[in-house]
Amino acid sequence: MNAVEKLIDGQLMKKGDFLEILADFGDERTMERLTREAVRVRKKHYGIKVFTRGLIEFTNYCKNNCYYCGIRGGNPHAVRYRLTKEEILECCEEGWRLGFRTFVLQGGEDPFYTDERMLEIIREIKGQYPDCALTLSVGEKSRESYRLFRESGADRYLLRHETADEAHYGKLHPQTMSLKHRKQCLYDLKSLGYQVGAGMMVGSPGQTMETLAEDLLFLQELKPHMVGIGPFIPHHDTCFAKEPAGSVEQTLHLLSVIRLLLPRVLLPATTALGTLDPFGREKGLAAGANVVMPNLSPVRNRKDYELYDNKICTGEESAQCRECLESRIAAVGYEMVSERGDFLNWK
Ligand code: SAH
Repeated sequence: MNAVEKLIDGQLMKKGDFLEILADFGDERTMERLTREAVRVRKKHYGIKVFTRGLIEFTNYCKNNCYYCGIRGGNPHAVRYRLTKEEILECCEEGWRLGFRTFVLQGGEDPFYTDERMLEIIREIKGQYPDCALTLSVGEKSRESYRLFRESGADRYLLRHETADEAHYGKLHPQTMSLKHRKQCLYDLKSLGYQVGAGMMVGSPGQTMETLAEDLLFLQELKPHMVGIGPFIPHHDTCFAKEPAGSVEQTLHLLSVIRLLLPRVLLPATTALGTLDPFGREKGLAAGANVVMPNLSPVRNRKDYELYDNKICTGEESAQCRECLESRIAAVGYEMVSERGDFLNWK
């Protein structure tokens, strides 16, 4: 049995199997088979439903200096902002009216939001919207902080591992950061009962078939509930400004592989994918994705949450974004729903 058949069959994959699958990228027959199977598995578990998450980018201050990221602490040109608790709650209110039942609080690693401030925000959101899921995406914290956030109501946590290869990790991040700690955070989050999301950029500088195979092996081992992948897109104020962007086609291929590897995974068709290709998100759905994450941040701040260049949907009102996406999703045969959209059979 070849590697693609093993993957479809749900067998435990070895690094060599993933390398074989990655090498098949571009082979039309294999690609077609993978995509077809990925969509079949997606439909078996989630039908034609597409879950939505309202993304609230509540701070772009960051103490880290990830080399690829436009809001890295070392970028003096980033125009910094923070939302107050009241502003965050206004975003939720608007989101609720528009039908969102998951809010994602994402930001840089901003020391202003101490545990105490975070707990206040989490309690307030969960108090006002008890039937909504709350996802956090605020980087690496201590197990104790994660525990406090979870106890005060946070349901899910997104923390992309970025790359599962040590040397590659070191190329993308300053020495103050480590893959070991990032992985530890993911295991902590999992053991605390979060629905956890990992993931990586596709085509980040220094990425190879080897490092991608390591990523897939790590995902197989961690078994996250969500996987966020999108193409790397250069940002003009980073040392990777002149590096080429990742490939849309390869991202789609990996979406299908990940759907088959983790059949019930919550898999977003990301904004980065929609930025590189006008129909990127639709193509993502057709490759096995089942989540979209439109922006709920105040329009006045959106352009400043600039992780990479030319990010889409920075000018539109949240309502416009939701409507636009809803019709785009319907046009490709899926249905945007107003549900929490938990991992299937979540306790
Ligand atoms: N501080 C949080 C949130 C990071 S921003 C954390 O550490 O998890 C969310 C994601 O955007 C990152 O995990 C990264 O994978 C992605 N990202 C950052 N810069 C990018 C770029 N130039 N191109 C594509 N994706 C990028």
